[in-house]
Amino acid sequence: MDVDDDDVFGAYCSVQRALLHCSQHGARLCLRCDVRVHAAAPGHERAPLCYGCQAAPADEHCGDLQALLGAPCARLAGCEHHTRRPARAFTGIPEPAELTRIL
Ligand SMILES: [Zn+2]
Ligand SMILES: [Zn+2]
Ligand SMILES: [Zn+2]
Repeated sequence: MDVDDDDVFGAYCSVQRALLHCSQHGARLCLRCDVRVHAAAPGHERAPLCYGCQAAPADEHCGDLQALLGAPCARLAGCEHHTRRPARAFTGIPEPAELTRIL
């Protein structure tokens, strides 16, 4: 399997692109798998996945780059000079409209 391709997909399905990170599962999840695995564990706190490395949870959203980034990637991108807001983590199973505001 191509490691680079594998990298952007969720831990559970490898079909859809991973957009979320669950620290309690220690896994990246696509939206479909998020609903599936967290129907039984809605208390897990999930964070958006960093757009930069696709490996770490995002800490902030950079308005200049229109990207959610973890602290190390934000530093690399020079985000200290950009307009930022904190990334939002969530629990439960959010409505699609709610997710749109988070991601
Ligand atoms: Zn979880
Ligand atoms: Zn990153
Ligand atoms: Zn930035």
